[in-house]
Amino acid sequence: MYFIDPHVHMISRVTDDYERMARMGCLAISEPAFWAGFDRGSADGFRDYFHHLTGFEPTRAKWSGIQHYTWLCINAKEAENVSLSREVMSVIPEFIDKPNVLGIGEIGLNKNTRNEATIFAEQVDLAVRFGQSILIHTPHLRDKYKGTRMIVDMLLADTRVEPERTLIDHVEEHTVRLAKEEGFWCAMTLYPTTKCTPARAADIIEMYGDERIMVNSAGDWGPSNPLAVPDFVQEMRRRGHPDSKIKKIVYDNPLEFFSQSKHFNFQPPDTLAARTNPVPDEEPVPVK
Ligand SMILES: [Zn+2]
Repeated sequence: MYFIDPHVHMISRVTDDYERMARMGCLAISEPAFWAGFDRGSADGFRDYFHHLTGFEPTRAKWSGIQHYTWLCINAKEAENVSLSREVMSVIPEFIDKPNVLGIGEIGLNKNTRNEATIFAEQVDLAVRFGQSILIHTPHLRDKYKGTRMIVDMLLADTRVEPERTLIDHVEEHTVRLAKEEGFWCAMTLYPTTKCTPARAADIIEMYGDERIMVNSAGDWGPSNPLAVPDFVQEMRRRGHPDSKIKKIVYDNPLEFFSQSKHFNFQPPDTLAARTNPVPDEEPVPVK
């Protein structure tokens, strides 16, 4: 089945992962800006990162015929540093018109601190001023309900925010209603150990329906699986759900949400150009 992975950090993955995802039916991915595993020391570190997300990464995805989109921000963890965050926010407009940028993300909360909340609100303001969609990270485990509640309250307090252009990610059983009831989009992250498993995600779909919800692998540098979306497809089929319902969650819904971003120029499979293999000379190739 064709699918779109709406949240995967391909910068942390090898080219073989793109290839495997393509073979399983992946047509497009979106890659939010995130924490690198260490706190970057300067806004220039982020500038280089944004260059990577808007330059080389779409090129590398194209080698496997996958369309690559991205989101820009300073992540919740590094947002604790308010002065650095404001410097990074001043860099983002340099990249906002790059052809694969869908919006501002993944902004959010990590430990639900005052500094994180300040920078979250300022990045929401940045998104609104530039007419961008928003992709939101919610905290892990015990901080999740409180953090999601804080995020929803801050979004509702800013009357300029359009819920239909805002995606609240990493929802679980106890937070999915918070996000959906106010008209936001939401997504479940399929992780091997923490967050949702494919079975838990299928349970949530059965309880809360398939409107304004999607699933992603959030594949990154930690234990994660870039083929988690196909695993969810298998779980749904095993339970007897029709392919039309599964396709809505893994393909139609991300398409509908992303289509609100002016740079989303999705090419359906029957219009895709032949995949570029071998790698053409003019594109960067690995130096061995
Ligand atoms: Zn992420």
